[in-house]
Amino acid sequence: MTNVSNPGVGNQPVHPVNLAVEGDDRLAIEWSDGVRHVLSWAKLRSNCPCAACRVEREKPPPLFPVLKLEEAQPPRPTAIEPVGRYAYQFTWNDGHSSGIYTFEVLRLLGEQAAATL
Ligand SMILES: [Zn+2]
Repeated sequence: MTNVSNPGVGNQPVHPVNLAVEGDDRLAIEWSDGVRHVLSWAKLRSNCPCAACRVEREKPPPLFPVLKLEEAQPPRPTAIEPVGRYAYQFTWNDGHSSGIYTFEVLRLLGEQAAATL
């Protein structure tokens, strides 16, 4: 996979050209530069970029193990809607929907997931 920019395309940032559900628990994203990423719902949910989830992630871990309701049932989206030309809004089965996943965030998460394969 080369990273050479195509002068004919100009400065248009990479964007998803296709989203597909893969298996039970994953999202496959095909990007305009030909890269394909597969992300689990769990990874997407646990990296929700909204302010409330960011604060939650920065808290120190609890002293004793806690099983949160949303962890007892595997996360999966009930809706994925485009936001403008730059992001997707995921609505999750735990009712949470304030996370706006910009293409940059999705790309970064995809690259992290690809690196751990
Ligand atoms: Zn959130």
